Amino acid sequence: MKDFIEIDGSQGEGGGQVLRTSLTLSAITGQPVRIEKIRAGREKPGLKRQHLTCVKAVAEICGAKVSDIEVGSGELEFVPSAIKGGDYRFDVGTAGSVTLVAQTVLPVLLKTDVPSTVTITGGTHVPFAPIWEFFVETYLPELRRMGARVEAELDTCGFYPAAGGVVKLRVWPLAKDATPDAYKLSDLGAYRGGKVVGVVSAISDSIAEAEVGIVGVQLRTLNLVPEVRSVGSFGPGNYCYVQLNYERGSVVFSAVGTYAKSRKAVAHEVVTAVREFVKSGKACEKHLADQLLVPLEIFIGGGWDPADECHYDNWTLDVQKETLHFTTNQAVINQFMS
Ligand code: ATP
Repeated sequence: MKDFIEIDGSQGEGGGQVLRTSLTLSAITGQPVRIEKIRAGREKPGLKRQHLTCVKAVAEICGAKVSDIEVGSGELEFVPSAIKGGDYRFDVGTAGSVTLVAQTVLPVLLKTDVPSTVTITGGTHVPFAPIWEFFVETYLPELRRMGARVEAELDTCGFYPAAGGVVKLRVWPLAKDATPDAYKLSDLGAYRGGKVVGVVSAISDSIAEAEVGIVGVQLRTLNLVPEVRSVGSFGPGNYCYVQLNYERGSVVFSAVGTYAKSRKAVAHEVVTAVREFVKSGKACEKHLADQLLVPLEIFIGGGWDPADECHYDNWTLDVQKETLHFTTNQAVINQFMS
């Protein structure tokens, strides 16, 4: 057996992404991994349900042997075997993010020989994670530009704490003989208009109306088309997002309402995110940037330049900001790829 790659879960950002990236890359490269100090940078360290679901999901897909783990575990060993496509169902069991689980398994399923379907149950619109619209409108189109064929469907919204959101993915294997073109995200092209959407479940429409109203006024120069929606779900929920459409594609900025957050605060969060991005003049939104690193490494990659005696990447990202998530993710990827 190959030696374990040793990952320090407390490095950099010290959150769940260190674990998720390690799982995906372990499955794809076939290298066993030992992760210690999992999420040591967080108030409640160790595995939460979302992370445990990611471990079990990737383990099922690649027939991995995993050390004994449970919620709260601070270390694990993961020994991957062969990746298998098929029909999978993963249930976080809480409102842990389904999009983060999806981003963990997707690159692995793209490396199989047969098409797969994946149903994930959990939170579809939760704080500190991509909301479903970001995943579908901003993240997936970039994955498709790298050659991926993926279809995604939202069945039911899931909010904290009731959860029960359901999403479905269909994933086709990447062509084995595909030689990827160089990938570039450095120009979004002309602005083609956008929308501001307020969504509620089992609470008054007036909350979404207020959020949409505030965002529309504060971002009036963007001429956003307002939309208020009421959706069904297992419990109350609220989120608001702005979608800016450019020639190249769409960028989604969101905030999720919680019991403790006023409608004004939700609107303010969205407005701030949009303003910071537009002001930066960059093409790659800061969250998208850290999320693209794993697919870029796997599907686009790079090589060795003998003239300069250095590693080069076959891709260019003009990032809004190199966040700690971005640099940490890069460091973890380097451990697998060096
Ligand atoms: P932890 O509880 O350890 O923070 P986690 O697994 O939920 O764990 P992180 O490791 O912090 O989360 O990773 C969160 C991911 O969600 C990152 O990829 C980040 O870019 C993304 N993300 C956070 N907020 C947003 C947002 N508003 N829009 C899009 N993506 C987001």
